[in-house]
Amino acid sequence: MKEKMMAAVLYAPGDLRYEEVEIPKIGPNDVLLKVKAAGNCGSDLQRIMVEGTHVFPCIPGHEFSGEIAKIGEKATSFKVGDRVTAYPLIPCMRCEWCLQGQYNLCEDYDYLGSRSHGAFAEYVKIPVVNLVRLPKEVDFDEGAMTDPACVALHGIKRAGGIKPGQSVVILGTGPIGMLACQWVKAMGAGKVVAVDIVEDKLKIARELGVDVCINAEKEDVVEKVMEETKGKGADVVMETAGSTATQRQSLLIARKRAKVILIGRSYSDVLLPDEVFTRIFRGELEVYGAVNSNFSPLDNEWKISVQFMASGVIKAKPLISHRVKLKDIAETFKSMYEGKMIYNKIIFSP
Ligand SMILES: [Zn+2]
Ligand SMILES: [Zn+2]
Repeated sequence: MKEKMMAAVLYAPGDLRYEEVEIPKIGPNDVLLKVKAAGNCGSDLQRIMVEGTHVFPCIPGHEFSGEIAKIGEKATSFKVGDRVTAYPLIPCMRCEWCLQGQYNLCEDYDYLGSRSHGAFAEYVKIPVVNLVRLPKEVDFDEGAMTDPACVALHGIKRAGGIKPGQSVVILGTGPIGMLACQWVKAMGAGKVVAVDIVEDKLKIARELGVDVCINAEKEDVVEKVMEETKGKGADVVMETAGSTATQRQSLLIARKRAKVILIGRSYSDVLLPDEVFTRIFRGELEVYGAVNSNFSPLDNEWKISVQFMASGVIKAKPLISHRVKLKDIAETFKSMYEGKMIYNKIIFSP
């Protein structure tokens, strides 16, 4: 096997270089994966262009799929040629959360693509216990979107799932929002409303089964949701856009005793006007934070997600807006950052 590979290496915020590096050396419990598809996570733009990775140099990319090229001597539960995706979080297995199987809350985790080398490369090294087999119905592009499918599912499960007939509003129709729309429909939601400012994304949301689409640039979101819910507000609200406007709206469009699930990050202070804050306690709202996804043997959202993709209930393909060669990744992130591109999921392939 060759010793060098091409990879996108981040040296500093905004300094992503496509260059030749050593192929990672694997330990006894690792596999070496030949990357077939790697997607841009919402967090990657901020990570690559503004905040940087935790260590430099670092190969970003944590949503991916591929074929096993090499296995460590103890990694025998998989074999060369197996098609897989992987949970990018490497738990410490010592903290109280890891001992309860809540790896997403680990106090001292490692992470592919921000703390260790990730998948914007020809090859990536992964602990064998983090692998998830792809069913034959799930191709590499879809497999690379298992991570956002799990993040959406985890958010809904945090709030106890959806009861049949409940109204749901999803703010933001990026990949997580569109996957959330499909999960809540699959769980029996009644009216599902999606909110965004990009008409093309709303069009796809409509094709994926959303009942009502609101373009927040053209309509008043709070007014429109009230109209659609007979003046009561939604039973469940999911905030996936990560903007201060939608974070405030998420609380204003919730009915009394509603569940509000916050999945989007805030990149600046979120000021809650009195009207919004009052809504939380007068409406007895239940506000849930949700981060990453569960991977424990007792509650493995990754295995659930690939099964639902295989059966066609969760459709990931319509989320792909661009397919780009890995060598063009630096320019792609630059034009995303400069606002020159309207995109949803971008799949990079070596
Ligand atoms: Zn991510
Ligand atoms: Zn831990």
